[in-house]
Amino acid sequence: MNSSPGYNQLKQWDHAYVWHPFTQMQEWLSEEPLIIERAEGNYLYDVQGRCYFDGVSSLWCNVHGHGRRELVEAIRNQLDAVAHTTMLGLVNIPATTLAKRLIELAPAGLQRVFYSDSGATAVEIALKMAFEYWQLRGDSNRTLYVSLGDSYHGDTIGSVSVGYSEVFHKRYRPLLFPCLRITPPHVFRYYRNESAQSALAHALEEAERIFAENRGRIAALIAEPLMQGAAGMWDQPAEYIAGLQKLCRANNVLLICDEVAVGFGRTGRMFACEHAGVTPDLMCLGKGISGGLLPLAATLATEEIFKAFLGKYEERKTFFHGHTYTGNPLACAAGNASLDVFSSDRVLKRLQPLIFRFKELLQPLKQLPHVSDVRQWGMMAGIELAGDVASREGYPVASQMGRQVIIEARKHGVIIRPLGDVIILMPPLSTTLSELDWLVGVTSECIRAVTCR
Ligand SMILES: *Cc1c(COP(=O)(O)O)cnc(C)c1O
Repeated sequence: MNSSPGYNQLKQWDHAYVWHPFTQMQEWLSEEPLIIERAEGNYLYDVQGRCYFDGVSSLWCNVHGHGRRELVEAIRNQLDAVAHTTMLGLVNIPATTLAKRLIELAPAGLQRVFYSDSGATAVEIALKMAFEYWQLRGDSNRTLYVSLGDSYHGDTIGSVSVGYSEVFHKRYRPLLFPCLRITPPHVFRYYRNESAQSALAHALEEAERIFAENRGRIAALIAEPLMQGAAGMWDQPAEYIAGLQKLCRANNVLLICDEVAVGFGRTGRMFACEHAGVTPDLMCLGKGISGGLLPLAATLATEEIFKAFLGKYEERKTFFHGHTYTGNPLACAAGNASLDVFSSDRVLKRLQPLIFRFKELLQPLKQLPHVSDVRQWGMMAGIELAGDVASREGYPVASQMGRQVIIEARKHGVIIRPLGDVIILMPPLSTTLSELDWLVGVTSECIRAVTCR
């Protein structure tokens, strides 16, 4: 075998040919890139042999650590059988078995699995299914969507329409379809002088008002239950999604839960909806669905929605949507193996003391001079930095304070990625108690070092 190219060669090629996601490339091109060669368990190793803890689960998707034997073997075995065949007109084995298992695990009432390959497509599919459902039912006035302020649902145009962010998306505005926004009960940002209880009541009142003003015109409400991840870890009480479901039921509006980030154990239950006893009409899954090894996503639907699409071929009620790699057997094999590990390792049970400890560890960070808020649900947390804690005033954008903290963390062997001035901790579910202690300790030290210099 030829020896693989070294650091300098790779850097040169990267800088010459690659365009990185969510990255200001002008900045990137002036920096030394961190080049990952391999990973094992909760650690990543770069080409120079340095070791880093994977503090954001490789952008929120890794579940059981890297290189987990059962998952790797499942993929290998599937690779020996067949890597990919189409689901347009054919069945494959892993996609079928995974569908059955997902439905057995999902909140009761969800019955059908439509596969795709990223969170954004899972959302796109849910939006299209909801829209077409009402058309097929003869209720064609229901064309509007409702979403939470600053929610994030992926980067395709439909997902951006419902997950609009002024910073990321303002130049696409003319391309986006209309969407009504409701304010989530995020105390820190929107209801700062209120209790969580009264913020919740006000948020639900507002949603009720918007629903009333648009009676008969709303197709679906889409929400990330419990935690709006990419907004900067905005937590909500479980009662919020329960309240939204009630409102949807009362107004004949479909509820889409985007569990792309919060699904697969992240909040301490298999799905975040379970904390609220909510069954959505459509549920979007991605990220952790394959254990974080291969691209896979799914949109789960109720039988009622599925049935609206049934008819004679010439009625053209078919859901005309699909992707080349829909239900890819390798990714689905990884998904099946990941679910096996959930049961063999009793992951959800193991998580409970870990989540408890995480809460304890995060508590003291609130006392740091430039930490204005700490928010957590299960194994996901956001630590918000502020130049002036009292006014909750963030840092000037150009200072990139969050980024400075994560650069500092690298020196201590931790890979994390911020969202603006919010430091995100999202370790793999396979993290041990002592790793968690260490991770939060390093993060705290780095925040202090950078914000107090
Ligand atoms: C990451 C994310 C998405 C998009 O998933 P991709 O796989 O990146 O397309 C959608 N919704 C939520 C809540 C997410 O966190």
